[in-house]
Amino acid sequence: MGSMSETSDEPTVFSRIVAREIPADIVFESDTVIAFRDIAPRAPVHLLVVPKTQAYRDVVELAEGDPALLAELVATASRLAADPAAFGEHSGSEFRLIFNTGASAGQTVFHVHAHVLGGPLEEGTLAH
Ligand code: 5GP
Repeated sequence: MGSMSETSDEPTVFSRIVAREIPADIVFESDTVIAFRDIAPRAPVHLLVVPKTQAYRDVVELAEGDPALLAELVATASRLAADPAAFGEHSGSEFRLIFNTGASAGQTVFHVHAHVLGGPLEEGTLAH
């Protein structure tokens, strides 16, 4: 792991969730992707969709290194938004997808992840 990353190979918090070392409310898992509820939700529905590999720090590295895996994150977000088990009463075709990229943009976990937000979100706003 970590060939694309300049950070150490120490497991990220998300790798520790994948390894079941930290509990999380997991809503989807495949061989390559995991999705769980954000511990500090910023919207009525707030999921994180995360590649299991921590080789990519952010979405720019992921797009360059494995565009198919980025497409899989987007497809996973779309499926979850349509799934009442994940999105509850807010399930449907619409959702907000956010990739914070860099500390000054609010990124705190340098293991690429998509925030998938749903529920009433105001048009014209980026925050909720
Ligand atoms: P970032 O700020 O890097 O874009 O997003 C990191 C997100 O991970 C934050 O929204 C934060 O609430 C969430 N988070 C951090 N640690 C944990 C954790 O241990 N479990 C869960 N479920 N979410 C976490």
